[in-house]
Amino acid sequence: MSDYDVIVVGAGNAALAAAVSARENGAARVVVLEKAPREMRGGNTHWSGGVLRFAFDDPREIGPLLPGVEDEFVDFYDGIQPYTGADFHGDLMRVTSGQTDPVLSRVLVDNSKETVFWMNTVGGIKMEPAVTLTGVRKGNKVVWARGLVVRAEHEGVGLSRSWFATCERMGVEVRYGAAVIGLLLDEKGHARGVQIRDDEGLSDVLGRAVVLGCGGFEANVQMRTQNIGPLVGAAKVRGTPHNQGDGLRLAMANGAMPWGQWSGCHATPISADWGNFAPRELTDRSNRLSYLYGVMINRRGQRFVDEGEDGAMFTYAKYGRAILAEPGAKAYQIFDSQVVHLLEPRYSTSEPLTSDTLEGLIAQMDIDDKKQALLTVQEYNARARHATEGFDPTQKDGLSTSGLALEKTNWATKLEKAPFYAYTATGGITFTFGGLKVDENARVIGTDWRPIPGLLACGEMIGGLFYDNYPAGTGLVSGATFGRIAGRTAAQIQSNSRAMELEGVGA
Ligand SMILES: Cc1cc2nc3c(=O)[nH]c(=O)nc-3n(C[C@H](O)[C@H](O)[C@H](O)COP(=O)(O)OP(=O)(O)OC[C@H]3O[C@@H](n4cnc5c(N)ncnc54)[C@H](O)[C@@H]3O)c2cc1C
Repeated sequence: MSDYDVIVVGAGNAALAAAVSARENGAARVVVLEKAPREMRGGNTHWSGGVLRFAFDDPREIGPLLPGVEDEFVDFYDGIQPYTGADFHGDLMRVTSGQTDPVLSRVLVDNSKETVFWMNTVGGIKMEPAVTLTGVRKGNKVVWARGLVVRAEHEGVGLSRSWFATCERMGVEVRYGAAVIGLLLDEKGHARGVQIRDDEGLSDVLGRAVVLGCGGFEANVQMRTQNIGPLVGAAKVRGTPHNQGDGLRLAMANGAMPWGQWSGCHATPISADWGNFAPRELTDRSNRLSYLYGVMINRRGQRFVDEGEDGAMFTYAKYGRAILAEPGAKAYQIFDSQVVHLLEPRYSTSEPLTSDTLEGLIAQMDIDDKKQALLTVQEYNARARHATEGFDPTQKDGLSTSGLALEKTNWATKLEKAPFYAYTATGGITFTFGGLKVDENARVIGTDWRPIPGLLACGEMIGGLFYDNYPAGTGLVSGATFGRIAGRTAAQIQSNSRAMELEGVGA
């Protein structure tokens, strides 16, 4: 006899989407097992910016998600470009160099808009314009980054809170401090439950289907070092300390197939002044993503990336790792007074160095070669452009340096207007790209290339979608899409198993 119809492991966006979907699709007894105590619940989802990337043909399709938005923003829809399924899939292909899983990426893109509307209507998640992150003011109008207009109200904190409220309303049981440490398969190889460790000790929780939504291995230093390498091993963690790769290890110990880029991760430029784990109350405020308006130099005083290669939403997830590869895993981002008003509000969580001269600024930096740093900035200035030549922060403006060994290809304005500012940066890991192989129904595939019966996975646990890089706002939509699918599949499995039991076939 099973205790539950569906067991969901983890309590982030993907897991709670699965729990809600399982209930919606007819599973009566659904339990969520969350390792963290209640006050730490919600996983990376709590830390997230809540931004949601999805495809739409006409900007006005977004309207129902944002009631009253035209009162708040003048000519709101004029600042939004259509973002079709082909655009979204094209972005995924481009940033992953064509390596994104062909089946899973199609499922993600094709369901993206419907998923966000489902989060809103069934999930009870209110939405708001993602103005502080993806909107750039042009006159009295706001121009929005393509595909990135909407976020959950009150960002990840609001998203997580809303999921828990909906679970409660729908009668989903949530158990905190319940760490899943084992997976129970019956003699037919069907997932029948899990072993947990909580304040009472060890016990088994039995069910008819198990959904794993318990995150990647980004907070586990040993797994980071072993799979991604020592540089990323030393990275600061941007989200929950609880995502230690438990679910991945358990599933693989029971025959699940690893899939995707296990040597890859999402790592962004963050303030180097933060500790090894981001404080929960400051959520994603560590990010330092306005480097495209300035230059970044390492401890040797040299630039090391094309800061203007693309919009930050298409480079931030790989430039954190690029900083980790530099000496001391540290860089400085330098800006002048022409662009400092464009820095994201999140920069206000640290104090910059300031000076009226570039020499004075560099003199204050904790770097090894200050002479080279000044030369680098002078060389850059000699090859950079004046803002009057067409600087446009709302799009790739083609304002490139010319003649540098490492060009800056957009937004390359001279650092010429005092005072000057410098912010520290290092790499912060967000999540890992390696995961399990699942099919389009979120069923976990074994190393024998067959589904492991009764076992589903969703969220960061799925491998294959992201390689080397990632388009911003995709993690949450992917999590909710595959969480919803996993919940639906789990509800179907439990209903079949119940029917077989009634017929006396043996569950
Ligand atoms: C700072 C930051 C900002 C971000 N901003 C965005 C954004 O704006 N847009 C976007 O799309 N993505 C964003 N992301 C990425 C996004 O947060 C993740 O892709 C998403 O939250 C992952 O959801 P998940 O449900 O898979 O995992 P999580 O939300 O991390 O949930 C995993 C849960 O599993 C639990 N768990 C772990 N092990 C066990 C175990 N053994 N037993 C029981 N429970 C366990 C954990 O405690 C946790 O609650 C951001 C991430 C961070 C860190």
